[in-house]
Amino acid sequence: MSELTGASWIQARAVRGRGRPFWAINPATGSKLEPCYRSATYGDVDRAARAAAEAFPALVLSPAEVRARLLERIAEHLEASAPRIIARADQETALGRGRLEQELRRTTGQLRLFAEVLRAGWWRDVRLDRADPDRKPTPKPELRSFRLGMGPVAVFGAANFPLAFSVAGGDTASALAAGCPVLLKAHPAHPGTSELAAQAILRALDELKLPAGSFALLFDAGFSVGRALVRHPAVRAVAFTGSRQGGMALWRLAAQRPDPIPVFAEMGSLNPVLVLPGALRERAEAIAEGLYASFTLGAGQFCTRPGLVLLPRLPEAERFRRRLRALLEQSQPGCLLTERIHAGYQQGLARLQEAGLQPFWRPSPPRSESPWPADPTVWEAPLAMFWQRAELHEEVFGPTTVLLWYEEPEELSLFVAHLEGQLALCLQAANPDQELARRLIEEALHRAGRIVWNGFPTGVEVGYSTVHGGPFPATTDSRFTSVGARAIERFLRPVALQNVPTELLPAALTEQRGPHLLDGKWQPC
Ligand code: NAP
Repeated sequence: MSELTGASWIQARAVRGRGRPFWAINPATGSKLEPCYRSATYGDVDRAARAAAEAFPALVLSPAEVRARLLERIAEHLEASAPRIIARADQETALGRGRLEQELRRTTGQLRLFAEVLRAGWWRDVRLDRADPDRKPTPKPELRSFRLGMGPVAVFGAANFPLAFSVAGGDTASALAAGCPVLLKAHPAHPGTSELAAQAILRALDELKLPAGSFALLFDAGFSVGRALVRHPAVRAVAFTGSRQGGMALWRLAAQRPDPIPVFAEMGSLNPVLVLPGALRERAEAIAEGLYASFTLGAGQFCTRPGLVLLPRLPEAERFRRRLRALLEQSQPGCLLTERIHAGYQQGLARLQEAGLQPFWRPSPPRSESPWPADPTVWEAPLAMFWQRAELHEEVFGPTTVLLWYEEPEELSLFVAHLEGQLALCLQAANPDQELARRLIEEALHRAGRIVWNGFPTGVEVGYSTVHGGPFPATTDSRFTSVGARAIERFLRPVALQNVPTELLPAALTEQRGPHLLDGKWQPC
């Protein structure tokens, strides 16, 4: 099971779709990559979803230790196939081996993080309110509650992270950890990478003797499979990373079901960087360097790319401008992942130009062989324009950013107050900026999922405290994160048992002696 078959995988069997054929395209050269993949049919979706529903009771009530081992085995299989996976992912994305090796480490790290979460037990959120039969006027019943996986999850692989936000990425790891089978709609930009990762998951499921229906991989070159998954009665939740258009279309579809289900869509944002006066005076060149590295990383194809940079009009700004220009002059030609992302980037640049922004740096005609070239482009305007032009509120996915110049620091508070929900907001500050920074942080708490101090928004650290979420439109549900240990909470629901004897409960629910809440008081163990 390590050849590319061009087939979807349902119940551990390769199923050759009968839908539209498509090939992966190498973004660096435009060449077609074999094999040919075919879109799954509605019948395939139905079979995979029914198998997931059948697998769910066994998976959700399997011991946490078994699922922890499952996640670790997936990580080990990915590592064993690393040379093959990296080579194929590089052909399908042109992201470069270094970046992809790093992404694979993040992917296996995420899988192991959820294994650790499972063993720690806090994710169950066990609570016990003891009975008091003598309470007047009515006796108090015993109430016990815990969290339980909610059922099969449809996961949409993202174009820009072929490993960490794709088949064996954080959504899959957190859903399997919660005991939820995964129906994975692969992104058509990297089908071969998707198939190799799926084979690692299926191998691990087999080794752990867990139901084969716990995972399925479905291909499509259009929207039919994704829409069918979101509508399928067996599917209980959806996880998505991509465009606002796509996320909202799926959210609406899920809300229109006879039994609406949650859609956890992460749809990207502008991730503004606010440079305070003291910081610009102190380190104008270093800020230019950090900004350049951040907005050009991965050809700007990160939902955390800094799209707006607010700078004070001070004499020191000239140092910033000179350094940024020097870096842009030396930039290497880049390329984007897909035709759709390239078209979106071109339209986004045209929008910014029509809005009246001045080009700070526009590249000379592309020098690459790629069908989807993209070199860094930087715009500038007075901050006042942010309130006048709606175009400045929209994400442009690719290597571009907008410098917005402000006259007075008070303008920054107004800016934060008018921001839509963001994944991240960064402050570049120095000692003299402390008071202003304190006010801005207080305001930003209500606008962003993550506030970064003297850093840039790209490079998300994955851990127990990670928040990769934020108020709408960064995501469809600001209460959750799609990255880090807390991501498991998306797929759990609380259940309470009143006066039910412990011995009648499934063993998996009582097996772990983790931290819990006893009569409202925290018990560490
Ligand atoms: P996308 O267009 O949102 O697509 C993501 C996935 O959702 C794909 O599998 C796509 O299917 C599916 N999909 C999209 N719209 C759908 C709909 N209406 N109904 C059913 N399925 C739908 O994202 P993309 O292809 O990765 O990139 C396009 C744009 O998304 C970029 O230009 C960028 O603006 C944004 N983006 C954002 C992030 C982020 O991190 N937030 C990441 C990547 C991209 P098919 O591909 O099979 O058509």
